[in-house]
Amino acid sequence: MIVGFHLSIAGRLGYLNALAEAEALGVNAVQIFAKSPRAWRKKSLAPALAERFRAERELLGIRHLAVHASHLVNLGAEGELFEKSVLSLADDLEKARLLGAESVVAHPGSGAVERIREGLFQAARLAPSQARLLVENTAGGGGKRGSTPEELAEILEGTPFGLALDTAHAWLAGFNPIDFLDRLSALGLLDRLALVHFNDARHERGSRRDVHASLGEGTMGEALRAFLRDPRVRRLPFIMETPREDDPKNLATFRRWAEEAFGA
Ligand SMILES: [Zn+2]
Ligand SMILES: [Zn+2]
Repeated sequence: MIVGFHLSIAGRLGYLNALAEAEALGVNAVQIFAKSPRAWRKKSLAPALAERFRAERELLGIRHLAVHASHLVNLGAEGELFEKSVLSLADDLEKARLLGAESVVAHPGSGAVERIREGLFQAARLAPSQARLLVENTAGGGGKRGSTPEELAEILEGTPFGLALDTAHAWLAGFNPIDFLDRLSALGLLDRLALVHFNDARHERGSRRDVHASLGEGTMGEALRAFLRDPRVRRLPFIMETPREDDPKNLATFRRWAEEAFGA
């Protein structure tokens, strides 16, 4: 299976640090922020470093590289915040192009669906990239869009963009993640699904309080484990955004569950 974690680009090694972490953990999928997720300031990426990154990634056999957009991005916002959000997402698409990433994951934000869609289009036009732009489902707190399959369908209507499904967000928005898949399927969106964020949830189902937990240690119980057995997601890359100190433990749990599910 294609499995990995959200890893860090901090420190002296910068972008290469995520690859060093991936190697140490022994995973074949990586997600990164292309800049600090809580600042607008962009991070420099020299072409030579990007080239070295792509070469090392190849050597390590990393099969999926995802860039997660900044937490400040709100494509549903108006005025200056909208403009800054579009430019920030375009910067992530540009970094993804340089690093050879497969996907860029963005939360829709809060506000009008039409503006969110327009923001996605504007960023994609500003920074053409081989990386596919994916809209992630959210837990829905604070007026955040994209917590239901129907709303994701509305956002994606008439666009070429894909979907990332976060199991914890689905749960916190009130859904068993398998039901979420069923509804995506009924809406004709299953083939848009390109990435799974495989997280347990700290708070109760439907609580909209977005805190992730280590696998089997949150409130999702059998619902999370059962999701891994669903043949519709088997070929997708799985990224865990779980407490970092538990990475080795979560990887072991993931592998045990996957083995029990299909002897993988
Ligand atoms: Zn996310
Ligand atoms: Zn996520």
